Amino acid sequence: MSLTKYEFRAQFRCTNDACRKTYPLNQVIYSCKACGELLNVEHDLEPLKKIPANEWKSNFETRFRSQTFPYSSGVWGKKEWVLPHLEDENTVTSGEGGTHLYSADRFAKDLGLSGLYVKQCGISHTGSFKDLGMTVLVSQVKQMISEGVPIKAVACASTGDTSAALASYAAKAGIPAIIFLPENKVSNAQLIQPVANGALVLALETDFDGCMALVKEVTKEPSIYLANSMNSLRIEGQKTISVEITQQLGWKVPDWVVIPGGNLGNVSALGMGFELMFELGLIDRLPRIILAQAKNASPLYDSYKKGFAEFKPLTAVKTLASAIQIGDPVSVKKAIRVLQKFNGIVEIATEEELSNAAARGDLYGLYNDPHTGVALAAMLKCKERGEIRDGESVVVISTANGLKFTEFKVAFHEGKISGTDMRLKNSIRPCKANLSSVLEILDSQLQKS
Ligand SMILES: *Cc1c(COP(=O)(O)O)cnc(C)c1O
Ligand SMILES: [Zn+2]
Repeated sequence: MSLTKYEFRAQFRCTNDACRKTYPLNQVIYSCKACGELLNVEHDLEPLKKIPANEWKSNFETRFRSQTFPYSSGVWGKKEWVLPHLEDENTVTSGEGGTHLYSADRFAKDLGLSGLYVKQCGISHTGSFKDLGMTVLVSQVKQMISEGVPIKAVACASTGDTSAALASYAAKAGIPAIIFLPENKVSNAQLIQPVANGALVLALETDFDGCMALVKEVTKEPSIYLANSMNSLRIEGQKTISVEITQQLGWKVPDWVVIPGGNLGNVSALGMGFELMFELGLIDRLPRIILAQAKNASPLYDSYKKGFAEFKPLTAVKTLASAIQIGDPVSVKKAIRVLQKFNGIVEIATEEELSNAAARGDLYGLYNDPHTGVALAAMLKCKERGEIRDGESVVVISTANGLKFTEFKVAFHEGKISGTDMRLKNSIRPCKANLSSVLEILDSQLQKS
């Protein structure tokens, strides 16, 4: 069956059940005009359901990492589920998605799991999963500009990775980008990325939540388009990770998916991806989800402990997991709905726990950024407590590339992160350039093991 784009339809819909107002996708809008709640992109399921589940699967498989534009992208390979009306010439892609599902088999065996997989979302053009959503948002903006909508620039607040992705995709499309960063709160690599891509970069004397408040003000002017994840176009791209994971497991649903959360857009996207696969018959059950927060920025954990009866924003404290240092997450309601539906758990990691977990994973061959460390630490705690049981399968979402966080890695192995496990540290041994000096070190080290 040919999948002509004209069969498929999508629009914005208000997430407030009492409102449910709809808006076209080419309107400059981020939250409902009537009630103020966030919007979702809603797909018309009728035409999508006309295609049998097996055909979706074989289409996705054929397109995966293929050479056919735009389907070679992991996101645009699922175009009908993402933005069906997008014209090819407006597709701004950097080959995002299609990342490896890393089987940490030795780690799994040591933990008694049937499988432990790490979805390497950081092996991506700008080094984080943010590329998945940004390709969708910037493509839609390019299409709107081509239709005559007067957009002059795109703008975002960021903890480092959103700005790197926005600056790159905007530069590819030839659209100016404005970046609001909290001063001294992102890694060097993250800071220089939008600078290199030619964006207007503002370093503000505040935290992420302060940057977010300002960018919301600035983007009240409709010619400056808001690129944060409260804009649900981003979620559409991010939800494709659920499809990729399932496909990479041979269309089997894992028992657990563990994901680090800050602004909570990504966990919402993860859930929506699984829900859509379930609706369309590609899977017959849902995984359980563990949302992992840094203890220093854990407002959702506090809410979870009270059965989600209430949610109180807080001021997040400095954490090594700087991309999730957020106290007032914009997508909290979407995230709570997903966690309730997926029988979810919220778990926290201290600075020591996230550092140790990242380093422990590295000893199995990974190279974890601190946010993946948060997820690994949460997974270890849930396994320890017996919530994750022996023989179950777990997918951990790695959100960024460890290479963006060299300062974190060096600090750990130099013993500069207090309270961490000495046994996980490794050091460089200075050595004279002669054979006897080399052998002396080898002898002493090999005897130890
Ligand atoms: C953005 C980001 C997160 C958090 O994603 P949210 O959608 O804000 O919850 C986690 N890890 C990294 C590395 C990120 O850049
Ligand atoms: Zn509404």
